[in-house]
Amino acid sequence: MTDPARLLAAMDTDAIIETLKVWVEQESPSPDADAVNAMMDLVIQEAESVGLTVSRTPGRDGYGDIVKLETQPAANGPRLLMLTHADTVHAIGTLETLPFKRDGDKLYGPGIYDMKGGAYLALQAIKTLKALGSGPAMPVTIMVMPDEEAGSPTSKDAIEAEARRAAVTLVVEPAREGGKIVTARKGAARYYLTATGKPAHSGSRHQDGASAIREIAAKTVGLEAMTDYGKGVTVNVGVIEAGTAVNVIPSRATAEIDIRIPTLELAAEIDARMQALKAEIPGVTLEIKGGLNRPPMERTAGVSALFDHAHGLAGQIGIDLETVPQTGGGSDGNFTAALGVPTLDGLGVDGAGAHTLDEHLLVSSIAPRCALLASLIETITPETVQTLDGANSEDAP
Ligand SMILES: [Zn+2]
Repeated sequence: MTDPARLLAAMDTDAIIETLKVWVEQESPSPDADAVNAMMDLVIQEAESVGLTVSRTPGRDGYGDIVKLETQPAANGPRLLMLTHADTVHAIGTLETLPFKRDGDKLYGPGIYDMKGGAYLALQAIKTLKALGSGPAMPVTIMVMPDEEAGSPTSKDAIEAEARRAAVTLVVEPAREGGKIVTARKGAARYYLTATGKPAHSGSRHQDGASAIREIAAKTVGLEAMTDYGKGVTVNVGVIEAGTAVNVIPSRATAEIDIRIPTLELAAEIDARMQALKAEIPGVTLEIKGGLNRPPMERTAGVSALFDHAHGLAGQIGIDLETVPQTGGGSDGNFTAALGVPTLDGLGVDGAGAHTLDEHLLVSSIAPRCALLASLIETITPETVQTLDGANSEDAP
């Protein structure tokens, strides 16, 4: 194993910042396939300089391409899977209000923290190992997704296919609250509720109408009441669309609902309640679509073993690695964890302001986080996540 001090000393933070500027200034909102693909071009350019094998799958449904980068594409046996994404939540033009700029230890720009910084460090970690005459303990696959911020509608299948070949998954999403990583995430479900009633003139024929708004309003109160902070369940009716004119009984109303749940068991319970929803206003019918979008990522014995391993390595780099309590935000790590692959998330850069105009990373986190990634890549084997009770043995190839 390479001495962590040597890894740290090999990190060229200024050079990393220089390329990050190019990456950040290539804006790449998820819905803009051309912009995301231009970002993918930059990722591929860097990957080729690292010596990785590139495969690019054309995008679909209006999203950009999926890019896969591998150290030993022909190798059989278990692999180390790393997940990244090239899209951001920021629309084209955000650079005008959030330009790439450095202010002390803070480096600003759209997507710099979530997660161009982490994606770039993943490549630099492999590059550094090679430069020091070392390399990964297992063959590495890095997946660069085009649609993570949209819930990964077009890349979920590809992620799951790679997860089935993986012994361990590392997700380089941003670190939290002073460098903490993520070992458990809530699952996310999304539902679409449509109420269809009967239109009528609100003055002369009020009694003939059946209000879809009244139905959705009643349902909203009930749905929001399912929030249970004690159990870690949250329900948000985030979007309602309804009505045509103030003097017409509304015949149509829709609601979009976001639900976060800590366990699969609770997800099933909530789903049963959602599917059982019935219209209560006479003359109104209700339609329910949707379901669990990202399954919960639970802290299994394999995850604990992986965390302990990372904690030990981090200590040698001068990082006291901690984990946050189960977070409500989902990531592509939810998919791999649900398949039983021990997954560590939040291994990217430290910073704050994800999804806002205050988005920034901390320059001081670049070298240590990159050194930690390099150490993890260099040392993780299937044995790292083997536990005494064999909790993950049936899942790990
Ligand atoms: Zn992200």
